[in-house]
Amino acid sequence: MRGGEIAVVGGSIAGCAFARAAARGGADRVVVLERSPGRLEDRGVGLCVLADRYTELARAGHLDDGIRWHRLTQRHWLANDPDGGPRGRLLWAQEMPFRSYHWGVLWQALRERTPDTVEFRLGGAVTTVAGDGEHAWLTGPDGGPGGAPGGAPDAGPDRYDLVIGADGYRSVVREAVCPEARPEYAGYVCWRGSFDARLLAEVPGGAALWPEHEVITVCYPGGQVVLYRIPGLTPGSTQVNFVFYAPTPAWLRPGDPTSVPAGALTTGQFEELAELAERHLPPYWAGVIALSPRDRTFIQPIYDLAAPRRTAGRLLLAGDAATVVRPHNTSGAVKAVQDACAFEDAWRTADSWAELLPAYDRERGTVGRDMVEVGRRLGRAQVTDAPDWSAMDEAAMTAWWRQQVAGTGGFGGHALGRPPTHRQAD
Ligand SMILES: Cc1cc2nc3c(=O)[nH]c(=O)nc-3n(C[C@H](O)[C@H](O)[C@H](O)COP(=O)(O)OP(=O)(O)OC[C@H]3O[C@@H](n4cnc5c(N)ncnc54)[C@H](O)[C@@H]3O)c2cc1C
Repeated sequence: MRGGEIAVVGGSIAGCAFARAAARGGADRVVVLERSPGRLEDRGVGLCVLADRYTELARAGHLDDGIRWHRLTQRHWLANDPDGGPRGRLLWAQEMPFRSYHWGVLWQALRERTPDTVEFRLGGAVTTVAGDGEHAWLTGPDGGPGGAPGGAPDAGPDRYDLVIGADGYRSVVREAVCPEARPEYAGYVCWRGSFDARLLAEVPGGAALWPEHEVITVCYPGGQVVLYRIPGLTPGSTQVNFVFYAPTPAWLRPGDPTSVPAGALTTGQFEELAELAERHLPPYWAGVIALSPRDRTFIQPIYDLAAPRRTAGRLLLAGDAATVVRPHNTSGAVKAVQDACAFEDAWRTADSWAELLPAYDRERGTVGRDMVEVGRRLGRAQVTDAPDWSAMDEAAMTAWWRQQVAGTGGFGGHALGRPPTHRQAD
């Protein structure tokens, strides 16, 4: 199939990957409508991609070695036991062949790799979306065509052959595709942050206590903290990234909390992070967390979302607009780019929109819902229903891990193109 005019709502990871897929597939026109005015690369912290998933996405032409990454090889699970020294007691050294990325570096690379023919309209939120079997329409902030404010208000909605919702977990496109699908709060949050790895010299023991290819997971009753290094925004620099799972802070709206962005925590709220770290972590890791500056620290509530369908008429959902998987599975960016691969494959083999859209839904719908379930299972096992860590050793940890991934597509995202019915317990 060739041709067609396509609008992509959202210009983040899924948006850039879908815009590239549509342009490569031969669309006549691709427009990306992103509400942020620009410089997304200043935001974001770390994310990981399992080595096997990277290989598939590189083969599909979506990722490449020119995107700066940091090699991770092992995950050390630790418990807060004074006999274990300043790092804590080692429960298990798990093989973990991952690439870590700075979200901003990855996003910028995907943006730069989007063909010049793709038109980016920044700085205006799409407010309404509708579609039927032949076309899809959207309107911008002023009731006129979607995109930058200032478009002619009386021009009416923009009409496209397809509107792709790559607009994240509070998606306006999803409202039109399946309004009944709502993100469900998992009942806990993560505190996140990143900072220059050279600051590790300030902690007793310094960087030498933490080999640079190790992912650390420190377990405590009611939560865990995951730490790893990522590339910095400038070539040659390295940052420390952490994800600190913890109960909902008393001052955050219960039931349906929203994120607290970097720089928005009050001094009192920010100090709660250091208190949590001192109460629950071995001294070395409490010292590392204390290095996180207030203006780089934020809170992200954990949500689950699995849209029952990904397409309706000429509307299609992508990335977090379709599924939100808990970060324990480290698959958020992977699944967004995989969605774009599946869309591109369906595009190449279909003769019409009527073939393409159901093919994409079939390929990614079941996988997406399965990944959400894996995330839930990992969250329960590691946070809300975690074992007594003081009783765990390597044998107990490996058995516990096997239970978590048994019968699923595995940790770090499902293999591309492999339906969950053919999955293995890895
Ligand atoms: C600035 C930023 C930083 C992030 N940093 C990290 C990180 O460090 N680590 C990590 O694991 N994940 C991070 N994420 C989330 C991560 O990108 C996603 O979980 C995953 O990669 C799937 O991406 P997505 O493109 O589907 O959704 P998202 O990344 O959430 O992107 C959705 C995009 O749609 C835009 N948008 C939303 N509504 C509208 C609208 N009505 N009109 C127009 N545009 C709209 C948003 O501004 C956003 O750019 C970040 C997301 C953003 C936007």
